Order: sequence, then C-alpha cells, then structure tokens
Amino acid sequence: MALAFDEFGRPFIILKEQEQKTRLRGLDAQKSNISAGKVVARILRTSLGPKGMDKMLQSPDGDVTITNDGATILEQMDVDNQIAKLMVELSRSQDYEIGDGTTGVVVMAGALLEQAERLLERGVHPIRVAEGYELASRIAFEHLEHISHKFEFGATNLEPLVQTCMTTLSSKIVNRCKCSLAEIAVKAVLAVADLERKDVNLDLIKVEGKVGGKLEDTELIYGILVDKDMSHPQMPKQIENAKIAILTCPFEPPKPKTKHKVDIDTVEKFQTLRKQEQKYFDDMVQKCKDVGATLVICQWGFDDEANHLLMHRNLPAVRWVGGVELELIAIATGGRIVPRFQELTPEKLGKAGLVREKSFGTTKDRMLYIEHCANSRAVTIFTRGGNKMVIEETKRSLHDALCVARNLIRNNSIVYGGGSAEIACSIAVEAAADRYPGVEQYAIRAFADALDSVPMALAENSGLQPIETLSAVKSQQIKENNPHFGIDCNDIGTNDMREQNVFETLIGKQQQILLATQVVKMILKIDDVISPSDF
Ligand code: ADP
Repeated sequence: MALAFDEFGRPFIILKEQEQKTRLRGLDAQKSNISAGKVVARILRTSLGPKGMDKMLQSPDGDVTITNDGATILEQMDVDNQIAKLMVELSRSQDYEIGDGTTGVVVMAGALLEQAERLLERGVHPIRVAEGYELASRIAFEHLEHISHKFEFGATNLEPLVQTCMTTLSSKIVNRCKCSLAEIAVKAVLAVADLERKDVNLDLIKVEGKVGGKLEDTELIYGILVDKDMSHPQMPKQIENAKIAILTCPFEPPKPKTKHKVDIDTVEKFQTLRKQEQKYFDDMVQKCKDVGATLVICQWGFDDEANHLLMHRNLPAVRWVGGVELELIAIATGGRIVPRFQELTPEKLGKAGLVREKSFGTTKDRMLYIEHCANSRAVTIFTRGGNKMVIEETKRSLHDALCVARNLIRNNSIVYGGGSAEIACSIAVEAAADRYPGVEQYAIRAFADALDSVPMALAENSGLQPIETLSAVKSQQIKENNPHFGIDCNDIGTNDMREQNVFETLIGKQQQILLATQVVKMILKIDDVISPSDF
C-alpha cells in the first residue's frame, strides 16, 4: 500500500493490485482454461440428439425450467468462470444467428479443446494448434458445401421444409407432436415470408400459450389472439367482416369532478339525471353504429348499464384491452386508435374477416381470435399443454423450428443430419492433413477426430457402442463413397439419413464449425490469466 495525493491535495491510498492477484501463466493457463471449457461441454453432451437427456434448472426464485435446448440450459446456469462464460456466449451466438444447433456447437468446441489439450501435452505450440484448426475448419466448411443439396420448395410442396423442421424438433421434449408442430412452424413462416427478397420477419409471428388442453391442440391463427372475452355473455360469439372501433376513451358519461356539486333533492331531479346519463350512453352507442362499427374494442371499462345497452343495441364490445394489444389490433386491422368519441369516423375502423370468441376448459376462460385482418400478415401460434413448463419448452422448440424454416427460405441448401455431415467432413479433413508438411498436420488430424465426437455423442446417447458404431459408419461412408450415412439413433434399421429424412440446414452446420473453431482459437491464445485472489 502507498499513500498518494491527487491534484487537489486530497490523500488516497494505492493498493498494489499485483499483490492481490493470482496469476496463471503459459501452459498452466491454457490447461486450466481448457478444462473449464470442457466441463461446460460435458454438461451439454448428454443432451445432444433425438435420444438426448433433458435438464431441469431451478432459478433462485424457485421457477423450474425443463429443457433440451443448449442455449437455454447455458443461459440459466449460473456460471462464474470466464472461459465457461465464453462457451455460454458461443451457444448464444449460434442461437442468435441461426436459432438451432446450440447444443452441437458446444459439443464440437468441447471436443476441439480436448484434442488441443493432448497436442499441448505433446509439446505442440498453441499457435500451431490454432493455425491447424483454422485450416481444417476451412476444409470442413468447403466440404459441407460440396456435400450439400439444394432443394426446391413451393407453396404446394412444403414437404422438404417440414422434414427439416421435424429433424430439429425430434430432439426436443415435444417430439411426440413434431409432425404437426413442424407443419405449423412452416406455415407460419411462409405466411409472413417475403419470398422475393428471401427474407422473413420473425417479429410478425407471435407465440402465445395457455395452460390446459393437449400439445396436439396447438394451432396456427392467421391473425391475433387477445386474452379477453365479449363484455356480455349474450353478445354474438362470432362476427364476420367485422368493422372494429378501437377506443381509448371511456365508454361512460363524464363523472362530476370533485369541485362540482350535484344537488339531487327530489325524485324528479334524480330521474332527469338518470335520463341524461342514459341518453349519453345511447348517443355513444349510436355514434359507433352510425360510423358502421360492428365491434367495439375499448381500453377502458364500462358499467353494467352500458354493457346491457350495448347488448340490447346489438353492438358487441370488448373491454379492458391492454395498450400493447390495442396497438397490435390497430396495426393488424388497419384501424386507428380513437382517443375521443367525436373523432370516430368510418375510415378509422379496423377490418377483420372474422372475430370469434372461443372458450377453454370448464372455467370462464375465453379468448378472442381476430383473424384474416386487413393490413397485416401477422400470425399467432397458440400453444397448449398440461403445465407451464411444457408450454415454455414448446415455445422454445417452436422458436428453433421457425428459425430453421427461415434459414431455409434464405438459403435452401441442406446437409444430412445424424452426424453424417460431421463424419464426411472428418474423412475429408483427415485426407487433407497429409498435404501439409508442417506441425499443422497434427492439429488438422486432431480437428478431424474432434468432428467425430458429434456422431459419437449421438451414438452414446442412443445407447449404442460409440466407437464401434462410428467406425462402422465411417468405413461404410468411405466404401460406398456416400456422405449420407449417419447414426441410426431411433433404431429404424437403416443409417442412410436420406431415407430417414434427417436434414439440417447447410448454413446452420457451417456456422457451428466456424463459431466453435473461433472460440477454441481464442481460448488457446490466452497464456496469462490474471484474476483477483479470493481474499
Ligand atoms: P441442437 O441444439 O444442437 O440442435 P439437438 O439436441 O437438437 O441439438 O440435436 C441435434 C442433433 O441430432 C443433430 O446432429 C441432428 O442431426 C441429430 N438428429 C436429430 N434427429 C435425428 C434422427 N432422427 N436420427 C439421427 N440423428 C438425429
């Protein structure tokens, strides 16, 4: 410690940081970093593939999440170690960019680290390993392109899109319904896709959920879903070609303010006041009818009398609709939000082909479907399930499927899954290693071995003998010169992934290899770790 003075003469104490820090250097730093990365990868390894295990995570406030999604598992784990955090970032960036393959990327990075550790132990310099990995990743990247297939899809031929989404969903908890969920995801993406620009705005797809019902009841709604019901049980439950008045003003006569005083001392006076109030309501209802509204959606409430009048005058209404939903309705139906009754005009009404109320369960649980809206292509996926955890996991799985469908619209190339693409790349990388005379060739071979770890994990998780299965499939690929052979996780009887319809997107797989290599190179280049010590 030392005492010093700042420019105003105030004393302050300088703590000598160096004494307070622990430091790891050279090989020790690399080894400790590698083992931290490997620990994270090991957690996710058992989750990979259609037979992968799920994880249950409890948040500090007691919320429980059960999931199979790599990004979610890592996101919710409270990791302290900086290198482990890098792995979390890795999974997150795969999720951000591609949306799927978040487990695979971490398993791949873990395997690369493991191989690197062996090389370092044998005395290969980390930079040589990093360079070899870089070369190998480029070879694998190009080979993926080489073995990929383009497939054509159109409005009538959605099968390839659905199949690819099904591969994504098959490893999730919701795989029981993968067929219908994949179809919903594809239809939702196509509904909002701009096929000419090959772009999809996923913001237009809202995923909502309600506890109850079965997973099979999950449906796609071409419109918006509002968690509200008609204000009166006798109002019509279905309105076709609805013209909607969207109001943010209260549906009631102005209340006397605190400074005003109303003296009512006779029955006549009271009746006059009541009549006045009734007339006010009546005028309001008439105004809505005059402009042609067939449905009123109100941000505020109205009392029972107004409710009754609305029902009587055959003007269905919905009350207490939140501001955000109101905006969404306005955008989708092409209507304008009206803050004052005087401003209500026919052009400000929103239009929807069908508005209907649907009830759920035995309780007073109803929702309003606003479908075939005039302006927007917005769609909603409404998920159902036995409990909150299932709903949340369904939402996450649908997110992955939606991302896959979007990626295919952006780039319609696919590679085959079940580890077949990794095995094919591993063979190509291994063959290329001989062309490099330097030390890099060891790193390139190590990269090829790391690629094998994905099919090995798939086999292991499916209860197969990893090494035997892998070597059998690998020799089959070489013998028949066919990159479609992978791990038959579901014991279907063939390991031709083309026959099993197990597809993955090319860009997803390429991104996995790029991101995993980048992170591992970064970890290998750290040779000095300075951190504050515990005391
Ligand atoms: P990620 O989060 O990385 O997508 P998953 O747990 O979803 O991880 O597992 C994806 C892996 O499982 C991919 O390698 C994919 O090829 C493989 N896979 C998915 N379905 C099948 C299947 N039916 N048969 C064999 N492999 C499959």
